[in-house]
Amino acid sequence: MTDRERDVDVVVIGMGPGGEHAAGTLAKAGLTVAGVENSLVGGECPYWGCVPSKMMIRAADLIAEGRRIPGMAGRSEVHPDWAPVARRIRDEATDNWDDTVAAERFTSVGGILVRGQGRITAPGEVTVTPVPGSQSAGNGAGPPQVLRARRGIVIAAGSKPAVPPIPGLASTPFWTNHQAIETGEVPRSLVVLGGGAIGAELAQVFARFGSRVTVAEGAGRLLPLEEPEAGDLIAEVFTRDGVTVRTGRPAARVEYSGGAGFTVTLDGGEELTGQALLVATGRRADLAAVGTAAVGIDEHLKAVPVDGHMRAAPGVWALGDITGKGAFTHISMYQAGIVIDDILGRDRTGAEYHAVPRVTFTDPEVGAVGLTEAQARDQGMAVRVGVTGVPQSARGWIHKAGNDGFIKLVEDTGRGVLAGATSVGPWGGEVLSALAVAVHARVPVQRLCEMIYAYPTFHRAIDAALDELAGDGRAPGCGPCDQARVTQPS
Ligand SMILES: Cc1cc2nc3c(=O)[nH]c(=O)nc-3n(C[C@H](O)[C@H](O)[C@H](O)COP(=O)(O)OP(=O)(O)OC[C@H]3O[C@@H](n4cnc5c(N)ncnc54)[C@H](O)[C@@H]3O)c2cc1C
Repeated sequence: MTDRERDVDVVVIGMGPGGEHAAGTLAKAGLTVAGVENSLVGGECPYWGCVPSKMMIRAADLIAEGRRIPGMAGRSEVHPDWAPVARRIRDEATDNWDDTVAAERFTSVGGILVRGQGRITAPGEVTVTPVPGSQSAGNGAGPPQVLRARRGIVIAAGSKPAVPPIPGLASTPFWTNHQAIETGEVPRSLVVLGGGAIGAELAQVFARFGSRVTVAEGAGRLLPLEEPEAGDLIAEVFTRDGVTVRTGRPAARVEYSGGAGFTVTLDGGEELTGQALLVATGRRADLAAVGTAAVGIDEHLKAVPVDGHMRAAPGVWALGDITGKGAFTHISMYQAGIVIDDILGRDRTGAEYHAVPRVTFTDPEVGAVGLTEAQARDQGMAVRVGVTGVPQSARGWIHKAGNDGFIKLVEDTGRGVLAGATSVGPWGGEVLSALAVAVHARVPVQRLCEMIYAYPTFHRAIDAALDELAGDGRAPGCGPCDQARVTQPS
């Protein structure tokens, strides 16, 4: 064995949230673990995803709340300033995009960090090639290193922005989430291609900091993966806030002319202009780059197929975005827990995805869990639906400015449990937690009707949605409607 070869128990390819969790925990358990990373240990979430974007959203929400003071609490003048946001992202969230702390978190428990591009070259073998210009060049310059895994390989390589093949786009200096998060300045105007969670969140942030923002979504509505009511409400709120929303017409062409910025021409001919263009049209996994074919996994697939224990092939596990089970940090961490238990030979229930929670952190927040109404019907379920508006709830009415939202429950009437639920509103993602428990644990709707919901919380609107679910023939045991509603204007 040369110094460019190394035998270990486990090789983890990709040290994003799930990969780092698996690698660190297995190392702590006493295994020899090599974690291979071609960029920053921690992955997308802390440097270009969840954490910095939520810092931006926190700042944008403060601006919105400040603007809601007139008519409710006096006078306010808000002068947005991006500098503290950019500073916070650089200094607090990302250490100026330096992963020293995260790398030490792994090496301090005995992990071996190998910087570079990892590729499976044979069963049980990963070859790591230094990536020019990255941190890997520092400690890995030179010939490739070959890692041999006695117990297995964990593929945790995440996903990258999917850039659609729109004529003209590739040759322009468009932004992905990386440039949007790293920017030191707010563009005067911004076109956002893609009205999913990432596009919607970032569109609202930049609009609240003074950019003239247009969101263009090719599907029929914003947040196309969620309940239609959610996308419609977000479009209404955006429009009210001065964000231009275009849906149902894909982009046909992109042009860039330096100082004049970008022109996006939609199907039908409408032209959208912006100083910057953010492409937020989804994420894609790259199986070929990881060399999955070497272990018999077709590298043209969109995701690595896994069983309930995250096994992808003999001696190969996969987790996170690359499994296609939901591009969320909590899915990656959940799956990492299953991988850890499986590698350590611990008994554990296999993965369940009937209650995947997700939150779009717009204002109002859009929280959802399980199936949408359409998905439930497509699966052949007999479905009953209850919807109630947050402004009509006691807390929503008290809250007043910024109280847009609703709760929607989707009952699988055959089983008498919730198949899915959506909670849109102030702290909609927090209200979601009760609904996530109900969907996850398959709590009978009857029991939800018998529950006591604190007054006057936002989550108490769940009780009203249950009333609506029951309709005229209310489920036996559903209490009287929210008492507070009698005190409100109708
Ligand atoms: C703007 C934005 C906001 C988001 N907000 C949220 C949120 O609020 N909540 C939430 O749950 N999720 C959010 N996400 C999604 C979340 O960031 C991802 O789901 C999560 O990071 C996926 O984790 P992962 O473990 O699959 O790997 P990733 O985080 O994708 O990390 C994989 C790592 O592997 C490295 N790598 C890839 N291939 C190789 C290779 N061959 N060799 C070596 N290294 C390799 C990559 O460079 C990367 O560092 C957001 C994403 C974005 C872009």
